[in-house]
Amino acid sequence: MNPNGVHEVHLNLNVRGLPLSATLEINERSNRLLREGRQVCKLGLGQSPFPVPQPVVEELRANAHQKDYLPVRGLRELQGAVADYYERTQGLSYRPENVLIGPGSKELMFLLQLVYYGDLVIPTPSWVSYAPQAHIIGRHVHWVPTREDNKWLLTPEELEHLCESDPTRPRIVILNYPNNPTGYSYTDEQLRELAEIARKYHIILLSDEIYGELQYDGGHCSIARYYPEGTIISGGLSKWCGAGGWRLGTFVFPAELDWLAESMASVASETFTATSAPIQYAAVRAFAGGLRIERYLWNSRRILRELGDHIHQRLTGMGLNLDRPDGGFYLFPDFSPLRGKLAERGIGTSRELCNHILEETGVAMLPGVAFGRPEEELTLRLAYVDFDGARALAAVEQIAPDKPLGEEFLRRNCTKVVTAFDLLQDWIEG
Ligand code: GLU
Repeated sequence: MNPNGVHEVHLNLNVRGLPLSATLEINERSNRLLREGRQVCKLGLGQSPFPVPQPVVEELRANAHQKDYLPVRGLRELQGAVADYYERTQGLSYRPENVLIGPGSKELMFLLQLVYYGDLVIPTPSWVSYAPQAHIIGRHVHWVPTREDNKWLLTPEELEHLCESDPTRPRIVILNYPNNPTGYSYTDEQLRELAEIARKYHIILLSDEIYGELQYDGGHCSIARYYPEGTIISGGLSKWCGAGGWRLGTFVFPAELDWLAESMASVASETFTATSAPIQYAAVRAFAGGLRIERYLWNSRRILRELGDHIHQRLTGMGLNLDRPDGGFYLFPDFSPLRGKLAERGIGTSRELCNHILEETGVAMLPGVAFGRPEEELTLRLAYVDFDGARALAAVEQIAPDKPLGEEFLRRNCTKVVTAFDLLQDWIEG
């Protein structure tokens, strides 16, 4: 019985024992340690370090008075702005009514799984919440392990192998690129090949492109270009627009999958009703783009790319093998080259690895097991976001566009992240 006198036995079986999501738990744990006076480098939660662009903030301010419930599928103007955005950036053509707005793409993913009766196919490693959502709803999860020597990317052969065993089984396959937790993305050719398999087996692809604008070369390509009829593109303001706390996500459907959008809208109408009105009005400005937003994105990518390269160098210097990240703000190193040394310290799992590092250095990260990897694999996810993004954006403006920012810049403006790797190096050598 819990302190309120309610028997926990009445909890739905699917949620009994369900812990807080790993990303949110590590954030709360880090904040608790900070309040206790500990030094913590927060590389746990993947929250954009950058402020929301000024024109978007101004738009929110101007729309604070918007108080009416908006249409369930979203503010018409915003649906139109999102459709235009995909036309402009991907050459894809959608009608405004093909766009569904939600309070974060996470909630839309949950609704999709709720309304669609089929298996959820997730390459591992993958973001922490896809599988728990399936578990809550009672859907079968099919994990497809990927390989580090292939940048943890799903191959067409792996996808085909899964499908041919039961070709007509209904499935949603999740693809996420640039990837959380690995930082890697697919080439156009790889997407084309995956699309071919998806078409052959009538797969519904949930293409999670929330980090698309943070691909460092600015050339993010959606798989919907090659498999438009079966792809739902998931996006939102949280990552590229620095607005995780605003909670605004978008799903874009091909006309062929409107029956799914319709059903999700019905469930939305019985649950969250509609997404916050002022946030939707402000989001129109974000998706409209323009020079100021482009400049913000260009600078954000420049900082993250150099920081990602710096961390990659530091990690390879510690004896780990991994590629440079392609986008976003994560890396997913495997510490197994150091297994012998770590075993002497009583570390044999990714959880133990993260707990020891946090206890002994104050660097907070997440264990590979939270991303669907085996317990004993010594992988972890680090989010290189613990710095003042406003300050870094102002500083980068002072440096000629063709010049590398250099380590001095990173030490001055992304201090805590760089320090985290000094601490980690000492810990490994110690
Ligand atoms: N997507 C972010 C992460 O992986 C945080 C938000 C969340 O998990 O809900 O850290």
